Amino acid sequence: MTGMLLLRGGLVLDPDPMRGFAAADVLIDGERVAAVGPGLTRPDGAEVRDLAGGLVMPGLINAHAHSPYLANISLVDEEPLELWSLANGAGRGAAPTELGLWARLSAAEMLLGGVTSVVDMVRLETAAADEGLDAIAEGYVEAGIRAAIAPVVADLRLEDTIPLATSGNPIPIARLEDQLELVGRFHARWHGRAGRIAAQVGPSGPQRCSDPLYAGCVALARRLGTRLHTHALETAPQREQAQRRWGRPMLEHLAELDLLGSETVLAHLVWPTPGEIELVARAGAMVVHNPASNRALGSGRMPLPELLRAGARVALGTDAASCNDGLSMFEAMKWAAILHRPFTPDWHDWPHPTRMLQLATAGGAAALGRDDLGVVAPGRLADLVVLDRDDLAFVPPNDLARQTVMRGHPGLVRDVLVGGQTVVRDRRLVTLDVPALVEQARTVAQRDPNPSGSDQRSRPEIEEMLLRPWGGQRPRDASGGEEPQRRQPP
Ligand SMILES: [Zn+2]
Repeated sequence: MTGMLLLRGGLVLDPDPMRGFAAADVLIDGERVAAVGPGLTRPDGAEVRDLAGGLVMPGLINAHAHSPYLANISLVDEEPLELWSLANGAGRGAAPTELGLWARLSAAEMLLGGVTSVVDMVRLETAAADEGLDAIAEGYVEAGIRAAIAPVVADLRLEDTIPLATSGNPIPIARLEDQLELVGRFHARWHGRAGRIAAQVGPSGPQRCSDPLYAGCVALARRLGTRLHTHALETAPQREQAQRRWGRPMLEHLAELDLLGSETVLAHLVWPTPGEIELVARAGAMVVHNPASNRALGSGRMPLPELLRAGARVALGTDAASCNDGLSMFEAMKWAAILHRPFTPDWHDWPHPTRMLQLATAGGAAALGRDDLGVVAPGRLADLVVLDRDDLAFVPPNDLARQTVMRGHPGLVRDVLVGGQTVVRDRRLVTLDVPALVEQARTVAQRDPNPSGSDQRSRPEIEEMLLRPWGGQRPRDASGGEEPQRRQPP
């Protein structure tokens, strides 16, 4: 793909981020790192790039996102997930060109923010779903970002499960085989393409998936040798729903479906019981922590210290841009570092900020199912980010790794390489014409002032469900004017 490139005179993050940065050169041969160390000799013909003290770290990995929802940024009112979902059909029926546009813009924002890989769960409800997925994958290839795309499959309607089966109606199972075939076709067309694209299997979440669908997804992921990526226990109603539907905690049920193996990645896990925390750690499934999204939607707090203490494998993500409202992995790292402190009385259990770097790199690599990403080391893929050490975030330079998390922001990112290819140079994305994409996005927005695809028919029923813990009244009315404490996970 490329020749040899010697990154000279930088400080490189140790494979164990807790050891921090140390002076070293990085030699890249093609798409991989060939050598890391001080004073490397320049091989004949190798290009040399002087980093002048810049910080080299592995590319950040956004382990949970939904690119089509970029369309809805700052368009949806502040509401809990169950109501937010009614107004967030963005992309499901969008034309392929529009989906490609949001993928390119998402990739641009992420690459300029030091993100070199993304897991994109894409839910399309259109006859042109194949073409829509193609447009997204083409957008990522053009941008030069590494992407695992999980076409979302679901066979239950949210309103049939989330109002907690109050109606008692049987749950319809529809188009299961068709949906799995769509995933199989996407995998056949794209898995491994351009060395950048992977296909994953993406059952939406237990609130939208039947047991047969989950069983089909597990079988498909194993047959294809790819990850299975699904939402789980994002909100308190989902925990209640699981108890009512199966008479036991959600993860106990998913474990019985053989869904907690090492190929499974669970997004959110905000409401596990202590037993479920032990279960997921023991079974080996990964968890993606999306702290900003969980706070923005009022979903709660994933018990990160408890999961880490139990030995669970954890990655970080932003979730959809429209429930965050952004795609900054620097934000995700800082949120994850400090969010848990008020809920963790023993401060010795507070996650160390520098450890968030590991979750956002090596943790993300595991969510992608790749053991050749996530650290700067010989033999690994050269997905690298160069940060500007002269930025005020690193002044004074007391602990550069910790400052990357606690004072980090996308503006630190000077250069980005994916598979040895320079995609950002001196803060400019060289792969895409960003001003032209911005202009296209403005045109799309003008054409469709309300791209949310909103269907509000279930709103009264869902509002009633959300207010049930407060006797059906708005909490302010129920408590005489004082704001009640939100329920927190144990
Ligand atoms: Zn999500």
